[in-house]
Amino acid sequence: MSQRLSAAQQRRLIHAARQAQRNAYAPYSHFPVGAALLTKNGTIYTGCNVENAAYPSGICAERTAIFKAVSEGEREFVAIAVIAPTAQPVSPCGACRQVMAEFSEADNPLIVVSCSADGQMHVETLSDLLPRSFTKTTFPAKMQRRKGYPQPTPRSR
Ligand SMILES: [Zn+2]
Repeated sequence: MSQRLSAAQQRRLIHAARQAQRNAYAPYSHFPVGAALLTKNGTIYTGCNVENAAYPSGICAERTAIFKAVSEGEREFVAIAVIAPTAQPVSPCGACRQVMAEFSEADNPLIVVSCSADGQMHVETLSDLLPRSFTKTTFPAKMQRRKGYPQPTPRSR
């Protein structure tokens, strides 16, 4: 258990992910996944996997939740829960880890709560899942000072 995520928040997040899993559109894989993302201000954004007849056009539950939140102006996140019909706590795919890295801070990494079908849980940080990741801080400082470069401060609400 992380100190930055209370037991109550964790339960709420898993519950929200489980609810979102019910909306999964997975007619090809029959592998419904749900995710729930907690922002620093306490809002939860959910997501499910959305598949497509043209397979690569589909998207994972985690990225659905993150893109929903970012499209609403959110930039700062505490944790994401993901649940799938697996025997062991499901692990996010590489593409989702990379998207999480865009919105995770090195000194305050996103907490990832993975769940199995029967409620087993694994809590880790994005730094555990994607060490030495390629992020916005990889670019030279000169590029980072450019207008439009993502700044750490979120949009004021
Ligand atoms: Zn994924």
